[in-house]
Amino acid sequence: MRVGVIGAGIGGLTVAAGLVADGHDVEVFERRDEAAAVGAGLTLFGNAFGALDSIGLGDRIRAISSDAISHMRAGQRLPSGDWLLAMPPAMVPSIRSLHRAELHRALVEALPRGTLRFGAEVTVTGSGAPTIHAAGGVESFDLVIASDGIRSESRARLGLDRGLRYAGYTAWRGVTSTAVDLNDEAGETWGRGHIFGIVPLPDDRIYWFATESTAPGESRPDERQSVLERFSAWHQPIRAVIEATPSDSVLRHDIYDLKRLPASFVRGRTALLGDAAHGMTPNLGQGAGQAIEDAATLVLALRGRADIDSALRLYGDIRRKRTKAIWSQSRLMGKVAQASNPIGAAFRDALLRATPPSSTRRGTASLQQWTAP
Ligand SMILES: Cc1cc2nc3c(=O)[nH]c(=O)nc-3n(C[C@H](O)[C@H](O)[C@H](O)COP(=O)(O)OP(=O)(O)OC[C@H]3O[C@@H](n4cnc5c(N)ncnc54)[C@H](O)[C@@H]3O)c2cc1C
Repeated sequence: MRVGVIGAGIGGLTVAAGLVADGHDVEVFERRDEAAAVGAGLTLFGNAFGALDSIGLGDRIRAISSDAISHMRAGQRLPSGDWLLAMPPAMVPSIRSLHRAELHRALVEALPRGTLRFGAEVTVTGSGAPTIHAAGGVESFDLVIASDGIRSESRARLGLDRGLRYAGYTAWRGVTSTAVDLNDEAGETWGRGHIFGIVPLPDDRIYWFATESTAPGESRPDERQSVLERFSAWHQPIRAVIEATPSDSVLRHDIYDLKRLPASFVRGRTALLGDAAHGMTPNLGQGAGQAIEDAATLVLALRGRADIDSALRLYGDIRRKRTKAIWSQSRLMGKVAQASNPIGAAFRDALLRATPPSSTRRGTASLQQWTAP
């Protein structure tokens, strides 16, 4: 089968690697000029690795990731450093962390040379017998996978776009370049309208993120300075982690999710995948994990069926149901975690203090479990 994939993000690269391994003829179109991803770190839970294993990619990604966080005390703290919810190492769910650029590189390396076309900004048309329009002309495919991100133009062209919603907060991200002692503790620190997160990466680097409830569209030349001004009075090692990060590498993005999910993830022979289908807030750390689950579900659905249309129906039904639940939980979690008024934040903190780690573990178990189609 001849498959065109729009977008070489985590979703597009994963589905392309899975389909190539099954013998399909795959071409990936990416508008950027190179594979390097913009981004810092990433966490992937057991569900993402279950999905990667099912299409033969798990060990490749395990090799470039770290499970250090699973051996630390993790959970939520207050800016003073007092724990609101501390998960002992034995209870921290299966979670691995890695650098985004390394994940992209590993997925690109899983593809034969010539599969990827960089600098190719394309559009999809004709969902029944789909075609992709590139600068060099029009190509026809048996199946087109639109994995072109949260601002997917394909979603709009297919008549499935229902708009974006500003989540109410902005996020900074960085990776340290010099060593910082974490004292075997990681996780998130929740203030009023602010969150700071610490995640150990392979090779003793640390991925961190910070958020602020604010209006969209603000930025300044030195974003590391913005983070220092807001978070340097919080418990250690937060200040040390920010200072160990080169200032020109700190990223800032306003956070959006899809206002509503598309009525369907499939139009004719074109399937939406990843953020294009279910762009969600990062509060559950599941956006890339769900893109990977989409990819594995589509590969396995096509593997089991000679008929493309019934495979796409199965893909659309399974994935819309699963991701709708996670997209809405993530939005709710964002509202709770970013609480900025004192009463809301105090209520949130009291709730968290009263929650036994075992019930948090139970509550997230189904989220972190992969089920093959
Ligand atoms: C602050 C933050 C933290 C996050 N942390 C986590 C985390 O810890 N764990 C997790 O699982 N998820 C996390 N996520 C979510 C995760 O980053 C995304 O869900 C994931 O990267 C989506 O991958 P994708 O392939 O669907 O889309 P993208 O990565 O957006 O890729 C889309 C690709 O399509 C290309 N493209 C777009 N239009 C065209 C076109 N017309 N022609 C050709 N190419 C095109 C783009 O250049 C891009 O390369 C986080 C997100 C944010 C914002």
